[in-house]
Amino acid sequence: MSVLEQTASQKAIELENKYGAHNYHPLPVVLNRGEGVHVWDVDGKKYYDFLSAYSAVNQGHCHPKIVDAMNEQAKTLTLTSRAFHNDMLGKYEKFACEFFNYDKLLPMNTGAEAVETALKICRKWAYEKKGIDENEAEIIVCENNFHGRTTTIISFSNDPVARKHFGPYTKGFIKIEYDNIEQLQQHLESNKNIAGFLVEPIQGEAGVFVPSEGYLKKAKALCEKHNVLFIADEVQTGIARTGRLLATCGDCSCPEKNCSGTPDVKADILILGKAMSGGAYPVSAVLANDNVMSVIKPGTHGSTFGGNPVAAAVAIAALSVVRDENLAENAERLGKIFRSELNKYIETSNIAKSVRGKGLLNAVLINDSEDSDTAWNICLKLRDNGLLAKPTHGNIIRFAPPLVMNEEQLRDCVSIIIKTLKEFE
Ligand SMILES: *Cc1c(COP(=O)(O)O)cnc(C)c1O
Repeated sequence: MSVLEQTASQKAIELENKYGAHNYHPLPVVLNRGEGVHVWDVDGKKYYDFLSAYSAVNQGHCHPKIVDAMNEQAKTLTLTSRAFHNDMLGKYEKFACEFFNYDKLLPMNTGAEAVETALKICRKWAYEKKGIDENEAEIIVCENNFHGRTTTIISFSNDPVARKHFGPYTKGFIKIEYDNIEQLQQHLESNKNIAGFLVEPIQGEAGVFVPSEGYLKKAKALCEKHNVLFIADEVQTGIARTGRLLATCGDCSCPEKNCSGTPDVKADILILGKAMSGGAYPVSAVLANDNVMSVIKPGTHGSTFGGNPVAAAVAIAALSVVRDENLAENAERLGKIFRSELNKYIETSNIAKSVRGKGLLNAVLINDSEDSDTAWNICLKLRDNGLLAKPTHGNIIRFAPPLVMNEEQLRDCVSIIIKTLKEFE
């Protein structure tokens, strides 16, 4: 690396530090190109991307079909707002509704907006359909959740950094333990004002917590029994990441990988984002059947950019890639290899305690305290060794590559990870 090139990345970082709000703490690497499972830094160094922009880039960087769809549409019509119709939105809504087997879709842009939308739909449903008294509706959420960064969403977070000095907080949320079916049952049986249960099928930001087998199915059955909406936040877990089209399908008995039938755990409200666009453009969506979505009427909700023609074209292309390239199946197969290869190493390791996850959403637990910087230091070394990953806590590293990876590349990555861990033994 020449002195001149070194300056290029330092300069980029300095500019961000000087002119950008300091709301992130990025790994020090400056990227300027991506293709498939790889990204390149400004010095031309090539890396495997093992974060995939938090599972937005499931289809791989700059997938040609997605980029072409985006460019074509961008040349034709980009935004009408919803004051007028456009000829792409309906096509996309039909495509996505058939893809995920729901009656209706409400288009938004970011994941947090889609979560907000789901919460609003749930409350409105509670008053207008379930008959809960005005302003009394409550929504159950889980400890250690991550659903985004808006004022309401951080109101029910228990991350002190995400919450502190952002009050007063939005009321109407009850927090229970994740993966605790008894607690859910107790609340549902004792409180008639519960409108919904908002859950991540696997808790991603918390450190890839996979609930016990059958948890989602039982939770969904309890919600049904008590006339409570089961709201699945699949912003990170959805769209083939965990080896199924949706992670809620993981508790489903149907063998179909690209399931669009009726799984045992079909959310009443499904929240999607991130990989809806393959990382090309902000696209999020809330899906529900007519009995729920019909509470939304003109004027009740909206977004200037939600459902714009570029987003619609990009999302159709991005979902088509997931199906045409069998990404769910690939994620399931490679995920098994990833965990079994790492487990072999972990048996003899002092630094790595365990590996957990589903499909290609995995985490390795590092044998140090949660407030240590060991995971961060390992990620710096991984970077030096050509692989980019990010800690979710001081002692957990998430590994989530694009789903277009092949077995040879995955095995190459496993050896990079093991080689790096060995440097910390
Ligand atoms: C990333 C994420 C969100 C928020 O999405 P943004 O696009 O960052 O607003 C919500 N829920 C889950 C589970 C996520 O992983």
